[in-house]
Amino acid sequence: MEGSKPLTILYAEDDAVSAKLLGRTLQNLGYEAHGFVNGHQALEWFEKIQPPIIISDWMMPQMDGLEFCRRVRALDLPYYTYFILLTANSSETNYHKAMDHGVDDFLAKPFRREDLHMRLRVAERIVRQRWETEAKIRSLAHFPADNPNPILQANRDGAITYANQASLSLLRLWKADVGGALPDSLLPLLATVARGEQAVSEAELYCDNRTYSFAVTSVSEDGLIYLYGHDITARKRAETDLIAMRNRAVMQSLQDALTGIGNRVLLEQRLPELLQKATQDGKKLALVLVDIDNFKDINDSYGHKVGDQALIHVGHTLRDHLKSRDCVCRWGGDELVILISELQHRSQMRPICERLIQTVKEGLGSSDLPKFTLSMGFAVFPDDAPSGETLLQKADQALYQAKADGRDCWREYLGESKILQSTQHMIQRLTAAIDESRLTAYFQPVWDVVNQRPAGVESLARWVDPELGYIPPDEFIPLAEAKGLIIPLSRVVMRKSLETMRDWRSRGYDLTLSLNLSKRQLVETHFLTDLYRMVDEFQLPHDRVIFEVTERQSILGHALGRQRIEAMIAAGFRLSLDDFGSGYSSFDLVGEIPFHELKIYGGLIRKMNTPQGRRIVQAIVEMGLTLGLTVVAEGAEQEEEVNILREMGTQKIQGYYYSKPLPQEKLFAYLEEQTRRGRFSRPANVPGADKNVSF
Ligand code: C2E
Ligand code: MG
Ligand code: MG
Repeated sequence: MEGSKPLTILYAEDDAVSAKLLGRTLQNLGYEAHGFVNGHQALEWFEKIQPPIIISDWMMPQMDGLEFCRRVRALDLPYYTYFILLTANSSETNYHKAMDHGVDDFLAKPFRREDLHMRLRVAERIVRQRWETEAKIRSLAHFPADNPNPILQANRDGAITYANQASLSLLRLWKADVGGALPDSLLPLLATVARGEQAVSEAELYCDNRTYSFAVTSVSEDGLIYLYGHDITARKRAETDLIAMRNRAVMQSLQDALTGIGNRVLLEQRLPELLQKATQDGKKLALVLVDIDNFKDINDSYGHKVGDQALIHVGHTLRDHLKSRDCVCRWGGDELVILISELQHRSQMRPICERLIQTVKEGLGSSDLPKFTLSMGFAVFPDDAPSGETLLQKADQALYQAKADGRDCWREYLGESKILQSTQHMIQRLTAAIDESRLTAYFQPVWDVVNQRPAGVESLARWVDPELGYIPPDEFIPLAEAKGLIIPLSRVVMRKSLETMRDWRSRGYDLTLSLNLSKRQLVETHFLTDLYRMVDEFQLPHDRVIFEVTERQSILGHALGRQRIEAMIAAGFRLSLDDFGSGYSSFDLVGEIPFHELKIYGGLIRKMNTPQGRRIVQAIVEMGLTLGLTVVAEGAEQEEEVNILREMGTQKIQGYYYSKPLPQEKLFAYLEEQTRRGRFSRPANVPGADKNVSF
């Protein structure tokens, strides 16, 4: 059937952005695709055209995907239609529910183009083979004895009255013969005749490693029943492959790609289940946060491959030394979460943590990995927190304690009054630094790689404490967020950054300024008024200020956060989705909020040295461009990475290849140097004048 005309696919998807993407993908794959925004319209068209394949979203208004499928099946049309359901929730329960409604396949959103392509190839094979069988059965009025397919005739009692040559050899294997009884597996067909049913029903006969499907084609006036067989071995294989592939996909969507242990999605599924079970059984549940000490140093000194191996080592060791009912997941970056259930008392946790820290350390002795240690912090349900979210926060506080106590140890959450003194000390120092405006901003250039010149800069907070030394933002930003300091901190950084922006504008540079925004800032009452006041004070054009939010901040779920985002967009500010691809990349988020820019996570750029890594980045770039977003890549260090990214269509690139983050004076020197090299064609001279050179 290769080379025959393209199959028609009906797709139903209520979300306009996803529908556009899906339609385009299907057309690119060579299908004739027809899209509908709800189940009613789709069903109407389906009845007229009867396309062989349907792809439908589960969640749609008016008529959802399951109901749509049920109605398609109820039509009982002569030719088979293959039904693929799309869903954001790929749990096993949903999978079975969908199958019970007559769905053939189940694809978790967001999906990769390759996944869809593979599924469609299998679907196509199955549909074409089914059609062939059905057509043959229908056209078969007479049964020539030399028909290569097995044909049988039987009476209503199940005795064989005729067998053609092809079926004789089969029957012999079944130790049956003319005059004898039909194989048991074919008897249900006689029952359908007895009930007077018209519909073509099939029964399978497995023989000599092949599977045959038999159907009743006619019943003579004297009650003899004709059974036509067809070799469906290839179709069965395709179905088995499909089931295996589907099971793999369900597993993979819950698995961390690097370590093979659970991912964040699995954790978010398991945590509420285990909390509920603990409540029912009157037992305790411990949530342990595990962090590799100085992971950044391992990456910097030995390279990311070694960093990855370290994570794999930790993930596997933890998994292998815990009970199967416990759950180990990668939470993100170098942080892992363990859920330990069925505890009688929290004291049981101490030897467990001790053993895990030691085992990981001992395992390093027999490996090629550099020596490293782990810090762990745990909190216990219901003693320390009543819900999963607070449990995680308390475990995080305990982890801070472990880090503050010199790392390579575990700490448990001991109640608010006993929060680590050293964390307390760090909080005091940070509060003082904020009060005294000692926090600074560094600026990392973002390059416009289409026109080969600086397009803007990202502001990155920096804190060098006279006593504690340099503390990286990855440490003090989460601390500030946890301790309610992020608002005053951001105010200091934002003010300094906007002030610097005014200065570069007064020197004639028209660059965008990207500011990282945390969710708490968005929901804070004075955030917008502060922002407008500062921007006015420095006379800055709104459309040159870009706010970056990360997918982890999940602003979607927060009504007030969304309102603020919309107000900012309405006021002309730009919005960027930062670190895209670092977590469970939410394609829904991209569709729901009118972002202007998509910033690809630096960790993915570093994985572009493998074909798979490159394909992932390519897919993200294509998606961003299709949605009309500016695509930015961050973390590019090598010339080769920059070249590949440019070829893929990335418009802006930020990374050490161009420049590390710079203090204000060095940024100005950098811009002057670029001007000397002709990167800025005409320095503007009026601050606030956005009609000057723009990028
Ligand atoms: P981010 O917003 O994704 O910032 C990019 C990070 O990647 C920066 O780390 C930057 O120095 C680093 N980077 C850029 N190019 C390269 C490269 O080529 N190679 C490597 N290895 N790294 C590169 P940094 O400054 O440590 O900031 C870490 C994170 O802290 C930021 O990630 C951001 O999420 C947060 N952050 C920093 N400043 C602020 C702030 O003022 N407010 C808020 N809310 N978050 C901030
Ligand atoms: Mg950022
Ligand atoms: Mg980023």
